[in-house]
Amino acid sequence: MRFSKALLTGLARDGGLLLPQTIPNASTHLNEWQQLPYAELATAVMQPFVDIPGNDFSELVNRSYATFRHKETAPVVKAGNVYILELFHGPTLAFKDIALQLLGNLYEYVLRKSEKQLNILGATSGDTGSAAIQGVRNKDSIRIFIMHPHGRISRTQELQMTSVLDDNVHNLAIKGTFDDCQAIMKTIFNDLQFRDANSLGSVNSINWARILAQIVYYFYAGLNVIKETGADKIRFCVPTGNFGDIFAGYVAARMGLPISKLILATNENDILSRFFNSGIYETGGPVHATVSPSMDIQVASNFERYLYYRSNEDPAKLNHLMTSFAETGRLTIEPAANNTVDSLFIAGSSNTQSTLTTIRDFYNTHNYLLDPHTAVGISTATAHLNADEPTICLATAHPAKFSEAIINATGKDIAHHPVIDELNNLPTRCDALQASVPEVRNYIMNHIAREKQ
Ligand SMILES: *Cc1c(COP(=O)(O)O)cnc(C)c1O
Repeated sequence: MRFSKALLTGLARDGGLLLPQTIPNASTHLNEWQQLPYAELATAVMQPFVDIPGNDFSELVNRSYATFRHKETAPVVKAGNVYILELFHGPTLAFKDIALQLLGNLYEYVLRKSEKQLNILGATSGDTGSAAIQGVRNKDSIRIFIMHPHGRISRTQELQMTSVLDDNVHNLAIKGTFDDCQAIMKTIFNDLQFRDANSLGSVNSINWARILAQIVYYFYAGLNVIKETGADKIRFCVPTGNFGDIFAGYVAARMGLPISKLILATNENDILSRFFNSGIYETGGPVHATVSPSMDIQVASNFERYLYYRSNEDPAKLNHLMTSFAETGRLTIEPAANNTVDSLFIAGSSNTQSTLTTIRDFYNTHNYLLDPHTAVGISTATAHLNADEPTICLATAHPAKFSEAIINATGKDIAHHPVIDELNNLPTRCDALQASVPEVRNYIMNHIAREKQ
């Protein structure tokens, strides 16, 4: 399947996730890539994966990153003994903008060529929704329906979505959890007749194009820190929910970026950190609401992609694991040769208290304000630092998006950004729905029918 097709397909027709047939080896390009500004590097890293002509692709990439507020797109700063990769300079102040600004432009490009329409259905635990909406608002031939768990995202996250009033944007508040939203989305995508009849597309990280765009900043930060320090290897620490972001790091490592460790950090919803410490992937009861809501996820949709490589790229083996998980809520893998689950990964979690303490201490010591997701990462990384291998911690959101947690942590109302401060006075639009597949399906059909006239 060509990239443009995979872009529009989202979830594979058999319910699985798409991956490239082969992962190109980039080892011979590392020296040359070390010198490139972000958009040029992005074009170089992604070009081998896509079927879009070089000039067009480079123009799309440049346009996507021109909306960022920092000239470097994703700058790296040093704080104490870690490097922080700031991924929050896009329109909605979360790392999801990096992929979704590009995705919106890719969709527009591919649809224009084919004269097709697209109806995007997405589920958000908070940040994907607004980034996806900003990526496609006002674009021709695209309509977007975003489900969020009613009352379970922050007020700011909600306003960032519901204050976008463009005709092609529909916000659905689902009376349930994020996992309910994801389950509804999966069921609807697996109804192939409905999916085809309504040209459904995806902005969630089940869409390979999102992972692809995220591979770039591992190269950007990794190569910059290697240049600065002269180190041979680097570590990345990634606050993790759906396993999309860290999976992009895993692909970067497979492409030849010298990553020695991926430090996976979770909050109390720790299914993934339990897995990498035990080899057992098992849901741990209901979702806990935490101060890092974008990681309040029990079943990580991208984990399947990792398992494919962990099963030696054997689809039958993967199918067996996924079926066993669907039937029993549990799957187990054999340890690797050195008796670890995977020697590339270190995993840990940080509870609400240690996350808030990390925000406070980091601010007092380094005068740098972490958002709670980033703080989960820093709190976890601190136990796994290595003098010879610099650690780059991904900063996934601007603290102003989570100002209540910052007040909780520091006792001060210091997390502000004009984009967020402006939200309070804007009009909003949103519809509340039960956590029911038929309700969501009807809503989509009714809107498509109504807006055709
Ligand atoms: C989405 C999100 C995460 C988790 O990323 P995954 O790709 O789901 O693992 C972490 N932090 C923030 C701020 C996010 O929005």
